[in-house]
Parts: sequence; C-alpha cells; structure tokens
Amino acid sequence: MPYRYHCHACHTESELCSWPGQARAVRREHRRIAHGGMRPAAGDRIAHATPSVRGPAWTAGVLLALIVLRELTGIEPADIARALGLL
Ligand SMILES: [Zn+2]
Repeated sequence: MPYRYHCHACHTESELCSWPGQARAVRREHRRIAHGGMRPAAGDRIAHATPSVRGPAWTAGVLLALIVLRELTGIEPADIARALGLL
C-alpha cells in the first residue's frame, strides 16, 4: 500500500512513497526546508494513498500479449523467458 505525505500549511503533497519510512523521510525533509525543521501549525500527515492503476494495467497488458503470442505462434512464455536468459 503506497503512502503520501500531505502538508496542510503549504497545500502540497508528495509523490507516492512505497513504504511509511520513505514518507517519513519526505516529511522530515519538507519540514526542514519549508518550515525550518518545525511541524507546520496547520498540520501535516502521512496517509495511505490509492495505488496507481498503471502497475496492474501493465501487468494485464503483458499477460494478454503473452497469451496472444502463444495462441498465434505456439511459443510458450517460458521459452521466451529462457531465450532472454530470465530462467
Ligand atoms: Zn509545508
């Protein structure tokens, strides 16, 4: 579950962070640069963020392409992975 840092004083938010520690580092850096290391009076928070749909969409696209490739050519995805040195 990704996380995002929000600063209510600056009306800004961070990019998605993969884990809470990364979001806390963003918060620490933002407080240092924008607020002299202090907690903004208007508050800030780290919250769960909705994951991007790009990751699952890419995965679904690759799987669909592999299925179409197998149906059209008979080449199994494992054979392609072996040819690329992935297996
Ligand atoms: Zn701020």
